[in-house]
Amino acid sequence: MRLDKYLANMDVGSRKEVKQLIKKKRVAVNGKTEVSDKFQVNENEDRVTLDEEEIIYQKYFYYILNKPADVISATVDDFELTVLDIFSDQDFRSDLFPVGRLDKDTKGLLVITNDGALSHRLLSPKKHVEKEYIAEVKGVMTTRDIERFAAGLKIDGDELCLPAELTIEQVDEENEESTIRLVLYEGKYHQVKLMVHAVGKEVTHLKRIRMGALYLDDQLEAGDYRELTEEEIKLLE
Ligand code: URA
Repeated sequence: MRLDKYLANMDVGSRKEVKQLIKKKRVAVNGKTEVSDKFQVNENEDRVTLDEEEIIYQKYFYYILNKPADVISATVDDFELTVLDIFSDQDFRSDLFPVGRLDKDTKGLLVITNDGALSHRLLSPKKHVEKEYIAEVKGVMTTRDIERFAAGLKIDGDELCLPAELTIEQVDEENEESTIRLVLYEGKYHQVKLMVHAVGKEVTHLKRIRMGALYLDDQLEAGDYRELTEEEIKLLE
């Protein structure tokens, strides 16, 4: 790969900016200053430095974010805070994006990556990757609701959902409130809220706690993120 591409891919700067850095003799390959932006480097073998600091090549980046309410699952927005606005200058890369969407008021597990193939696999309707949610509901959920969710509910007029696993975690009959756990095998727009609405109740708080085999990390406060470990990345493959 060309030296300028290597540096630009590592977000050192734009292609134009890194060409300038190379010209100014600030870049070295294997200890030798390199002034040609076309110089071919092997990202697995060569040691590239900028001002004597090593720039290690990493193609894909994977983060787990505990999404807080009030940020949107987008990369840029003129008015709203996005999940990428949470990232520090050091971690931010212009090619990062969230894998799927959570509503603005939904909290919890969101994977952020620049790996389009992984995102495609996780979101493909054919793969039926499980998503698990905990929801606070206004209304008393019943065993009849469990059966209706398991049979496949119609939402939003006519759209038929795949069977979903509903567990009633807690019911407060007096205040007409319930806590539910829901496992979905697809990802329709506003799906949890619409399914609960279809049985005559309303979601008041929603949190995603799992995607495939990856669970939300309890140690992550709302608004915190960290890189996924190698083991966690494997869980998503
Ligand atoms: N279902 C919803 O209704 N909202 C979300 O954010 C995710 C699933």
